[in-house]
Amino acid sequence: MRILRLIHGEQPYYARWVDEMTARLWTGAPWLGGIETDRLVPLAGKPLLAPVEPSKIVCVGRNYRAHAKELGNEVPSEPLLFLKPPSALVGHDAEIVLPADSARVEHEAELGVVIGAPLRHATATDALAGIFGLTAVNDVTARDLQKKDVQFTRAKGFDTFCPCGPWIVTGLSPLDLGVSLRVNGTTRQDGRTRDMVFPVAELIAAMSRVMTLLPGDLISTGTPEGVGPLAKGDVVELEVEGVGVLRSRVRAPGGATTVE
Ligand code: ZN
Repeated sequence: MRILRLIHGEQPYYARWVDEMTARLWTGAPWLGGIETDRLVPLAGKPLLAPVEPSKIVCVGRNYRAHAKELGNEVPSEPLLFLKPPSALVGHDAEIVLPADSARVEHEAELGVVIGAPLRHATATDALAGIFGLTAVNDVTARDLQKKDVQFTRAKGFDTFCPCGPWIVTGLSPLDLGVSLRVNGTTRQDGRTRDMVFPVAELIAAMSRVMTLLPGDLISTGTPEGVGPLAKGDVVELEVEGVGVLRSRVRAPGGATTVE
């Protein structure tokens, strides 16, 4: 099942993808008791919103050996956690806005995990059972600011720095999926989730020992090697095997942008 979010009649709705042309509306988020209605709506021409409204986005740094190495870092002995603000989320086909404060903004293709049940001090087994579904996340990062600041907050937190989507897929194992990214058609990243230092279940369990994970929270699981700079006008296609392709366009600062 693919769960997406779209605007219908000026209201945002969760919906289930039926086919290329059609979606079926839900009464609310599936992980918060929403149920499917019998209302079919056309998909054509409707922008897809980020498919989640998380209380927090919990991320991990250096979770693939080759990526830690390319940035000159050691592989951490326990998951290196940080947060992105939910206000950074944008959906499929949205714009990544380059901030005026940074001269080096980079893409990070990642498998995203949407939490389906409250998790606190979860075992790895509970963690897997608590997954609602999987999506694609671009953990966009101002690399120069990340190096300059001690905290990651500014470097990872700009508006539009968390493209997510195009939807959430349920019933898919996170253990061995391709995670790749193309810029203007050229492949930059091409990894597999089996190469994670801390696999998804261990990551979620570790996060849940720090903070209660709530239904709808979004986990981003780290990026494989090949991160690189984005320039205005770039078209970014992030593909997670079994999920689909999340497309973004990159634009320079200034001008109005749609917040969603
Ligand atoms: Zn990342």
